[in-house]
Amino acid sequence: MEYRRMGKSGLQLSVLSFGSWVTFARQTDDDINERLMAQAYEAGVNFFDNAEVYAAGQSEEMMGRVLKKLNWDRSSYVLSSKAFFGWKGEGKKPNQHGLSRKHLMEACDEALQRLQTEYLDLYYCHRADPTVPIEEVVRTMNTLIQQGKIFYWGTSEWTAAEIMEAHMVAKDLGLEGPAVEQPEYNLFNRRKIEVDYAPIFRNVGMGTTIWSPLASGILTGKYNNGIPEGSRMSLNDYEWLKDRALVEEKIARVRDLEKFAQELGVSLPTLSIAWCISNPNVTTAILGATKVDQLIENLKALEVLPLMTAEVKEKIDEIMGTKPIVIRN
Ligand code: NDP
Repeated sequence: MEYRRMGKSGLQLSVLSFGSWVTFARQTDDDINERLMAQAYEAGVNFFDNAEVYAAGQSEEMMGRVLKKLNWDRSSYVLSSKAFFGWKGEGKKPNQHGLSRKHLMEACDEALQRLQTEYLDLYYCHRADPTVPIEEVVRTMNTLIQQGKIFYWGTSEWTAAEIMEAHMVAKDLGLEGPAVEQPEYNLFNRRKIEVDYAPIFRNVGMGTTIWSPLASGILTGKYNNGIPEGSRMSLNDYEWLKDRALVEEKIARVRDLEKFAQELGVSLPTLSIAWCISNPNVTTAILGATKVDQLIENLKALEVLPLMTAEVKEKIDEIMGTKPIVIRN
């Protein structure tokens, strides 16, 4: 396993990590989750990602139970959660979601209880909240750090301008700014990481924990000939994802990419993940996996990483047609 420093912070994250989003929502018992987490940990994964909203709080509860059972040394892994969406679903009341001091403080305590831990290494604002002054958010996250409940705070899917505003406010007040952002980054969605955040990487420094490196599985090629039974896109609650993601033009590109992977002698999932972590501004790519076999396969991306030469990446750009165009005056 390779470990990378999370931006300018001292924290080291394994370049491949594990997330529980849809995976834990689909499980009714802890066995498969335990096997997935154990497999990841044995391979050197040291970062496990969660959020209050995943399976309405149950994902944190499951991970808490599994971690308790596995009984790893707490200092050997990094645990995260995120607040913003709340976990009470449709019936949530005004202060049970968002980034107010009230929700962030309460959500953090609830996450600690559900995960059965004394502290979170990383705590994210799962989205920006334009209804709350940024000073309130920065002060609250700083308080949580001072209370020892969290060690670093971050953002997820914030714009570059929102992240910079948080940094400026934090600097003005002499408080901790966000150390990490959790954006989507994959061969379909590149602009934020490659263009929008470039000045932040350059001028401030920022770690990134990438979500959906396989675009929910599309970049494995599993949807090239329809929707396999039991796959994420076949699930009732994820219709919105299917409509957004399974566009014929995208699938045609993936078919071509699969041919290129075959020419290189590697699998498509490992090529897609290796491409993602070949960007030095990526600290870690969070893997989602519903089966141990998937995880074992995806971890092989580390072996494919050395193949990501400029030439190979150019060829991938050509096939996918998604390299962002940058116009500078
Ligand atoms: P991916 O894009 O890697 O998709 C993972 C899914 O793809 C798996 O659950 C599986 O789905 C399928 N898959 C993975 N590997 C293979 C394989 N080798 N062969 C076939 N199918 C495969 O990641 P996720 O979308 O799951 O995101 C990863 C993590 O990122 C989440 O768990 C969560 O922690 C975080 N996240 C954060 C968000 C945010 O807003 N901050 C948003 C979304 C995710 P299946 O078997 O069901 O088809």
